[in-house]
Amino acid sequence: MRFDILTIFPGFFDSPLRESLLGKALAAGHLDVRVVDLRGFTDDRHRTTDDRPYGGGEGMVMKPGPLFRAIEALRAEPPPPRVVLFTPRGRLLDQPLVEEMARWERIVLVCGRYEGVDERVHRHAADLEVSVGDYVLAGGETAALAVVEAVSRLLPGVLGCAASARRDSFSDGLLEYPQYTRPADFRGWRVPEVLLSGDHERIRRWRRECALRLTLERRPDLLAKADLDAADRAFLRR
Ligand code: SAM
Repeated sequence: MRFDILTIFPGFFDSPLRESLLGKALAAGHLDVRVVDLRGFTDDRHRTTDDRPYGGGEGMVMKPGPLFRAIEALRAEPPPPRVVLFTPRGRLLDQPLVEEMARWERIVLVCGRYEGVDERVHRHAADLEVSVGDYVLAGGETAALAVVEAVSRLLPGVLGCAASARRDSFSDGLLEYPQYTRPADFRGWRVPEVLLSGDHERIRRWRRECALRLTLERRPDLLAKADLDAADRAFLRR
């Protein structure tokens, strides 16, 4: 799977793409991430990527010319990519969308800055507009990192233990159960006895019930779409 990140701040990605899980995944060739400098597609001496908004008002808007030229150049390279534009008005990024993206062969991630990008880029250059939440970031770069990281951990070989991604929050529609590690007693706060019991069926049921309870308390909206069995439904009715 390949990502092309289109940005005016390529240096933003230097360290995140070298460190930790992502750095290892890239070094091992599980995914390919290319950072593309939008200024390489400008046509003036000052390498201008933004201009004043028509109609007046605060701030600057990213010009359509460099963005269209860059996106067209990236589309011309095989395999054909999906072009994702980051914007607060886009489809909210959630685990089902991340899972869908993990099945795409190549994604171009377009990072806006300033007051955003010219409307013609939204309408005629992007395949999908994506938001990472109901708040406003200074630019799409942080959103791009969130997508690359969330998608890459679903790719074969990236996580040491593939099963852990299947157990994570949202993967089955629920929030994850609480996790504990040693010591069993920390400042008088003891690990629930069931986790020390060695009884795998009791542990499985305890974790499931904790996940159901947490989701009911904190994100009841998720329960409507969660994959629940008869025992889960009986527990939630209690
Ligand atoms: N004026 C825009 C608005 O009110 O919707 C916000 C522009 S924001 C300061 C600059 C860029 O950051 C956007 O073009 C977009 O690429 C990115 N951005 C900001 N918030 C975002 C969010 N919640 N999700 C995705 N991208 C975001």
